[in-house]
Amino acid sequence: MKNKGATYNYGECEVCNIPMKERLIKQDFWIQGNLIVVEDVPAGVCPKCGEKVVNAEVGRSILKLIENSDRIARAPRISVPKIKFDMENARS
Ligand SMILES: [Zn+2]
Repeated sequence: MKNKGATYNYGECEVCNIPMKERLIKQDFWIQGNLIVVEDVPAGVCPKCGEKVVNAEVGRSILKLIENSDRIARAPRISVPKIKFDMENARS
């Protein structure tokens, strides 16, 4: 991969006006009713509000990865808690 090790300049958070810091994040996508988590995505993260930005090249790479149904079929599974929205219990 070219530009390896080069840090992308993510600019400043539009809300806080402070520089974004590069971090590896998890991004989740719903594809045809299935939740897919992409790990170790390089992204700019605002240290204050947590706003995340991904550069265009990374965004395109993610789309390629999650388009590949073979890759998804071979990927390890995680289980996640699933709860139903419940206004009454949310109050307690
Ligand atoms: Zn911010």
